[in-house]
Amino acid sequence: MEFQLGEELLAMRDLARKFSEKEIAPTVEADEKEHRFRPELVRKMAEQGFFGGVIPEEYGGTGVGMLATLVMCEEVARVSPSYGLPFNMQTIGPALTLLRFGTEEQKKKYIPGLVSAEKMGCFAITEPNSGSDVAAMRMTAVDKGDHYVLNGTKTWISNAQVADVGLVYAYTDREKKHKGMTCFFVELKGAPGMSSTAIETKLGLHCAPTGELIFDEARVPKSTVVGQVGDGFKICMAQLDNTRICCAARAVGVAQAALDASVKYANERDAFGQKISDFQMIQEQIAEMAVEIEAARLLVHRAAWLIDKGEKPTKDISMAKYFAAETAVKAAGNAVKIYGSYGFSSEYPVERLYRDSKSFQIVEGTSNIQKLIISGFALGKRK
Ligand SMILES: Cc1cc2nc3c(=O)[nH]c(=O)nc-3n(C[C@H](O)[C@H](O)[C@H](O)COP(=O)(O)OP(=O)(O)OC[C@H]3O[C@@H](n4cnc5c(N)ncnc54)[C@H](O)[C@@H]3O)c2cc1C
Repeated sequence: MEFQLGEELLAMRDLARKFSEKEIAPTVEADEKEHRFRPELVRKMAEQGFFGGVIPEEYGGTGVGMLATLVMCEEVARVSPSYGLPFNMQTIGPALTLLRFGTEEQKKKYIPGLVSAEKMGCFAITEPNSGSDVAAMRMTAVDKGDHYVLNGTKTWISNAQVADVGLVYAYTDREKKHKGMTCFFVELKGAPGMSSTAIETKLGLHCAPTGELIFDEARVPKSTVVGQVGDGFKICMAQLDNTRICCAARAVGVAQAALDASVKYANERDAFGQKISDFQMIQEQIAEMAVEIEAARLLVHRAAWLIDKGEKPTKDISMAKYFAAETAVKAAGNAVKIYGSYGFSSEYPVERLYRDSKSFQIVEGTSNIQKLIISGFALGKRK
């Protein structure tokens, strides 16, 4: 058993850390305030090889694996959780799903462009009336002989308004329930019957575009089907396993940023004639953050390592996602407390970390949904 990152992984972590501090940090606070997304930054991330880790070389990737990718993703999210999202939107969501379930033609046509970020990606599951209950979605795809017609609205879709391509889930046969759902890989930009609107009312992640995708009698060729007709639910669950663990890595990054900021501030701020870091209650908060972050990171690394071994560690992924999300929210909350009134100010970074951290308890399956999955395994109801 090896509990240390090897030299290669450490080099990738340092590369991502330096890149984030040099390229993302200088503009992130101003961009967050102005809700500005920089696609050129995503392309620069691609040039560093950030998105190719889960993709083999024949499709433009590096094949270094999920663990290496998440080690880099954590570093990016430490500086900006908004820019941690493209790891999912480019490859861990759409490209990796195509790699596993797509045709050779789909893989060759779309994966390299997602790795290089020449094409922006997304995945569209959630609808206005269905989030956790994926099978309750209403979107339909009707077989018209040589094409399908898509009708429905997807909401809270990361990258909705900037994505060129993406995975879209819809019912081809509602009567068959889960087995009547199909996954499509669709070209979104400028396609007739497809449009998008931005969601401008978010609590956080202001550098990350989020919006609605509207499909109104949208014709898509039959070649857009991913896997078999009726495999959509199965594909969606497989996709969520991968995107979920990436979310967990981003949560660890945010928790670490909250700890780093807290340590710095606690060692600078004076109260009652001493540094606040000399107070035992502050020390307790710092200690809890340090332990929980370490535990969350180990859970993320273990689940990623199992993925790299070719296993399907759904339980381990849910454990990592649940614990990392809760750790991020608690760590960011502690940071706000340690900063006192400055923690309540948008002049300091911890307020943003607190807002951004809440997303981890919601996206890729809420904390309640993770607990349902974990307890299902613990109670022997799931295998
Ligand atoms: C910033 C952001 C980005 C997102 N990006 C994407 C994206 O790219 N693609 C995409 O498809 N979606 C995306 N989403 C949507 C996200 O995946 C959903 O919001 C999430 O799955 C929860 O669904 P919901 O909001 O409909 O909540 P609901 O499912 O309505 O849940 C409401 C509450 O009920 C609880 N609940 C529901 N069912 C149960 C149950 N069985 N047991 C116990 N409690 C339960 C939930 O935990 C939650 O607390 C994004 C959301 C956000 C906030």
